[in-house]
Order: sequence, then C-alpha cells, then structure tokens
Amino acid sequence: MNDRNASRRAVLGMGVGVGVGAAAIRMTASRAQAQEKIAQAMVQYQNNPKDGQLCSGCANWQPPNACAIVVGNIDPNGWCIAYAPKAPQ
Ligand code: SF4
Repeated sequence: MNDRNASRRAVLGMGVGVGVGAAAIRMTASRAQAQEKIAQAMVQYQNNPKDGQLCSGCANWQPPNACAIVVGNIDPNGWCIAYAPKAPQ
C-alpha cells in the first residue's frame, strides 16, 4: 500500500459518509414535514362551518382540499379551532 492508495481510500470513504449523511438528512426532513401537521381530532376539525367561519376563508387553507397545518382531506366548508381568517385583500 502506498500513500496515493491510502489517500484515495480516505477520499472515497469520506464520499460514502457524506452521501449517507445527506440521505439521512433528506429522510429526517421528509419525516419532519409529514409530522408537522396536526391530527384533525387535535384541532376538533369538522366537515361543516362554525359561526360563519369555514376553511376556504382560513389563512391555512390550501385548495382544493388541504390545510397547511392539519393532516388529511380538508373540506372547503370545514372548520377547526385553529381557524385564522385570511387577511383582507
Ligand atoms: S379552519 Fe383553517 S386551520 Fe383549520 S382545518 Fe380549516 S384551513 Fe386548516
């Protein structure tokens, strides 16, 4: 074994380590994104409006049927305790 081969192995080893580390970070990021949303039951989500408030009028609403902070299928006419009215335009 000479110094050149040893250096090559060291560089290749670092490359594998960096690759594995990057993959681990990507997996952690995707898990974190999946876990960032709140369960519907935790925010008392319901499929109908409450006191004139509805998901389609909420700042967290993501058409056609999602919410930025609550998991799952969200009805535009739904509502939950995290309701935050959209800013007037
Ligand atoms: S009221 Fe707002 S925060 Fe709650 S589920 Fe509907 S869009 Fe999401």
